[in-house]
Amino acid sequence: MIKKKELIILITILITAIIGIICVKIYQGSEAAVYVQITCDGSVLYHIPLEEDRTLHIETSYGYNDVIIKDGEVYIEDADCPDLICVHQGKISNLGISIICLPHRLSIQLVNH
Ligand SMILES: [Zn+2]
Repeated sequence: MIKKKELIILITILITAIIGIICVKIYQGSEAAVYVQITCDGSVLYHIPLEEDRTLHIETSYGYNDVIIKDGEVYIEDADCPDLICVHQGKISNLGISIICLPHRLSIQLVNH
C-alpha cells in the first residue's frame, strides 16, 4: 500500500518529467528553424533559411565565393582566395558551425534566429 506522502512525491516526479519532455520538444522545435548568415567584414550580406535551396555568387572587393545551399547543407563550391580553406571545409549543416574564408573576410554561420 503506497502512503499518501509517497504518492504525492511520485506525482511530483511524473509532472516534472512531463514538463521536461515538453520543454525539450519546444526547444527542438525552435532549433528546426536554422538560418544561413553570411557576413563580410562583420556586416551581414545574407540571412536566409537553410531549407531554401540557393546558389549565391558573393563578390566583394576581396574576391568571390560561390556558396551553395542545398538539402539543408551549406558549402563553398568555388572561390578565388589563395588558400581555398573555405572550399576544403566542405558541407556544414549543424547550428553553431561556420565556414570562414580568412582572405576574403567572409564567414558563413548557421544561426537559429
Ligand atoms: Zn577562401
